[in-house]
Amino acid sequence: MTLPPGATIGILGAGQLGRMLAGAAIRLGFRVHILAPEDAAPARATCHAYTRADYGDAGALSAFAAACDVVTVEFENVPVAAVEAIAAAGVPVRPNGRALAVAQDRAEEKRFLEAAGLVCAPWRPVDSLADLEAAAAAIGPKAILKTRRQGYDGKGQRRLDAGSDLAGAWQGLSGAPAILEAHVAFEMEISVLIARDGEGARITDTPPQTHHAMGILRRSRVPAPLPGAVVEEAKALAGQLADQLDYIGVLALEFFVVSGRRLIANEFAPRVHNSGHWSVEACETCQFENHIRAVAGWPLGDPALRFPAEMENLIGEDAEAPVADLLSRGRLTLYGKQAARPGRKMGHLVRRLAP
Ligand code: AMP
Repeated sequence: MTLPPGATIGILGAGQLGRMLAGAAIRLGFRVHILAPEDAAPARATCHAYTRADYGDAGALSAFAAACDVVTVEFENVPVAAVEAIAAAGVPVRPNGRALAVAQDRAEEKRFLEAAGLVCAPWRPVDSLADLEAAAAAIGPKAILKTRRQGYDGKGQRRLDAGSDLAGAWQGLSGAPAILEAHVAFEMEISVLIARDGEGARITDTPPQTHHAMGILRRSRVPAPLPGAVVEEAKALAGQLADQLDYIGVLALEFFVVSGRRLIANEFAPRVHNSGHWSVEACETCQFENHIRAVAGWPLGDPALRFPAEMENLIGEDAEAPVADLLSRGRLTLYGKQAARPGRKMGHLVRRLAP
């Protein structure tokens, strides 16, 4: 399937990723139709049509499907049933519902990553306090309890150490199904952004080093300072994952790097990703354009890095600095959000670094 310019790309979700995806689609001559439950959302300003509806609204999904030539997603927690309803109406959804289902459940995700030949930190599913006690005994005291579902930006996580109150940690997650995962003493975190098209062709961006604080991405700097062989291995592993998922579009796979070269897979996001926002300024073809090209059946673009770059997220009140100050610190992108709540991603800056 190759969509002609003027075809309509549907996007489920209306956050900043949808806004930037829509911008790329519009630049390539597509129409953009967004379905999301929010009234005010960043992508509402960057689309031809906006359906404000819940993801469970069968009538709205059916009308949305009828209006779109292909549908994609801008966040991974879109209910799989919504995606299946659109696919059942005969409209391709890219990436597929299976990729979303796997990414929505940390236990399924770990199993899938391991089956695809990647190495994860030791982990156990935890459905009860007794499971948690057994898992802590098996994995060791330094570990992270993570809810299987709906965790993002460090939410739904409890860090454990020797002497931690396991019952308190379990209650803190309100008994939600979880996994216990060994703490990884990593030297570096990286992410790999890979685009795969419907014929299985792939391109991979130069992997960035990522820096998180309190579970939230703060900065992403490209290229990550790693030997070429490690970079090639990370790209190859991302390729294995994308192939196994029969993936179409961009996905981001996050790794911990230990001992300078061992790659431990953490998680993947079935969508464009915050760690790759520098690709707009620094790459021949950015992640948003390559995602749109992939879902539209167009050839993927050259991902070559034109210069080393750093992206800094503007989180919460970071974005309330004087505009002149923000502009002096890099190329500014603001997401158009009204309220700067703590922890909320409001925009980002991209800087060119010395080679
Ligand atoms: P996640 O939501 O799993 O991506 O976790 C958010 C961030 O928490 C990661 O990017 C790491 O900085 C940190 N983190 C998560 N899991 C682990 C782990 N097993 N060991 C060490 N740090 C972790």
